[in-house]
Amino acid sequence: MALLQISEPGAGPDPHQRRVAVGIDLGTTHSLVAAIRHGLPECLPDAAGRVLLPSAVRYLEDGKRVIGYSALAAQAEDPENTIVSVKRLMGRRLADIAGGDKLPYRFVDGPGMVAIATPVAGEKTPVEVSAEILAALRQRAEDTFDAELYGAVITVPAYFDDAQRQATKDAARLAGLEVLRLISEPTAAAVAYGLDHGAEGLYAVYDLGGGTFDISLLRLTRGVFEVVATGGDAALGGDDIDQALAEWALARAGVAARTAQDRRAALVAARSAKEALSAAASVPWRATIGEGIVEVTVTRAELEALARPYVERTLREVRRVLRDARVERDHVQGVVMVGGSTRMPLVREAVRDLFGAQWPGRVLTNVNPDEVVAIGAALQAHSLAGHGREGELLLLDVIALSLGIETMGGLVERIVERNTTIPVAKAQDFTTFKDGQTAMAIHVVQGERDRVEDCRSLARFELRGIPPMAAGAARIRVTFQVDADGLLSVSARELGSGVEAAVSVKPSYGLADDDIARMLREGFANAEGDMAARSLREARVEAERLVLATRSAIAADGALLQAAERAEIEQLMAEALHRAEGTDAQAIEAAVKALAAGTEAFAAARMNQGIRRALAGKRLEEV
Ligand code: ADP
Ligand code: MG
Repeated sequence: MALLQISEPGAGPDPHQRRVAVGIDLGTTHSLVAAIRHGLPECLPDAAGRVLLPSAVRYLEDGKRVIGYSALAAQAEDPENTIVSVKRLMGRRLADIAGGDKLPYRFVDGPGMVAIATPVAGEKTPVEVSAEILAALRQRAEDTFDAELYGAVITVPAYFDDAQRQATKDAARLAGLEVLRLISEPTAAAVAYGLDHGAEGLYAVYDLGGGTFDISLLRLTRGVFEVVATGGDAALGGDDIDQALAEWALARAGVAARTAQDRRAALVAARSAKEALSAAASVPWRATIGEGIVEVTVTRAELEALARPYVERTLREVRRVLRDARVERDHVQGVVMVGGSTRMPLVREAVRDLFGAQWPGRVLTNVNPDEVVAIGAALQAHSLAGHGREGELLLLDVIALSLGIETMGGLVERIVERNTTIPVAKAQDFTTFKDGQTAMAIHVVQGERDRVEDCRSLARFELRGIPPMAAGAARIRVTFQVDADGLLSVSARELGSGVEAAVSVKPSYGLADDDIARMLREGFANAEGDMAARSLREARVEAERLVLATRSAIAADGALLQAAERAEIEQLMAEALHRAEGTDAQAIEAAVKALAAGTEAFAAARMNQGIRRALAGKRLEEV
């Protein structure tokens, strides 16, 4: 499909006004804000000189709250009022997280999204908690520039669905930030490396953080990125390596962690030993377990032996994404390394080895892997604020799951296929099923499966006021539009009368990354089963349609039929309906065929009568 080039609409830059636009990486464990200063993109530090802001919010009495390091420090003593990893909850419902992450919170089902019941501050939605983090970053930027912000580009994972993106936008709005655009994290990372000004072709972005792994494949064409494919594991990261190292060290020392506090101490020690081993060959793992201090020496080789299985899992995902996208390794020109865990020499070597000794591409590691996403977002914000070159090209993303509508028989008609580049608008025409049908229910769904019940329901609306017509005569154009932020609107219009109805999918929040991965897997795994189910349903719908049409024809022109003819048609209709109740698609099709054949003479008689009526009283030359 052709790439779209988008230049930002609206007024050009006002040269007299200094517009400060920032890029924000709203992360699971850390968040950052970056901007162009002195002509270069950089992450903005807090008063203590730290650029990372832990994504942690602690609620206190009297509506007060603390954000960042001090909240994180209080996590152990006040876990119920201290919210961490809230990004995992964005746009999710209670059902989406039940039995999932073992988070120490009490969840309540809010409207469309789960909320956290905090003892001191009441219920807080993930949107509100994220807004606190965004507001802290906004404050930091305004202090730095001593100016109000013009707006922000905020990054989201490439696989975030409508609900998650909408939740992120809502959080920004709540924080008083103008969202210039949401862009995907891998796209931002590629921009930080200036790849958008480099050679056209394919790039991979390998992002291994604390709790998640993401792999994305981007294609650059004429300065425009397109996310070609994404993959990953929403529960794989540096935390797993910490866990393995902590267990190993406890076993080596011959002590057991008996309390939650012991386990925490062992993990904290493991994390710092692991991080130190990215530079050193051997370090002490030291933790207070029970009453005493326990110390064990860890070498890099020992750590790597523990970490290797997790790294292997990331490589399997990389191979899978390349295979799905039908991309040869040698066609990947570079791999951008993102996330703190890519500081591990083992990870860098493993990625390089995956591509092989003959690989002409590069593993890109020289931009700080914690900052690279925020920096790319800042560069993008800068050009969106009007500082870019004339007609600067913007970035493109793809939609993570196909979008479509429910058709007769509970089947899904996909209108926008997954991995379609956004923004996109696509239309398809539908028709009515019954004679005189004046309303049509439009059910918007998301997913890769053929049956509605296997997909996710996004929205429902009705088109009313369709002028009564014979079944199949109305033409209803359903248009799907996904904007540059990945938000969907759907409209339906009856083309003859112009009646119209629309929804903006302010989605019922909630579809987890795991769910997306699962739905994709199931979509592939069930393709065959789905096909059989689809032909059965199509056969049933066809049988019903033909019986309905025959009935309305008999009601109108039954007089044209002899009693025997009529009885035979009734018999054929009964047979078709009977077959349609069974599960043998071929038998249904055969019955439908027989009915079609059995009504042929009747149809011809009706047509002749219609012509006779139309011609009645007219002379040949008038016709
Ligand atoms: P997330 O994207 O999940 O918020 P980050 O990208 O901030 O996570 O990465 C955090 C992870 O990176 C943690 O597991 C941390 O231990 C790890 N990490 C940070 N620095 C290093 C280092 N020098 N060596 C190895 N791992 C590191
Ligand atoms: Mg990250």
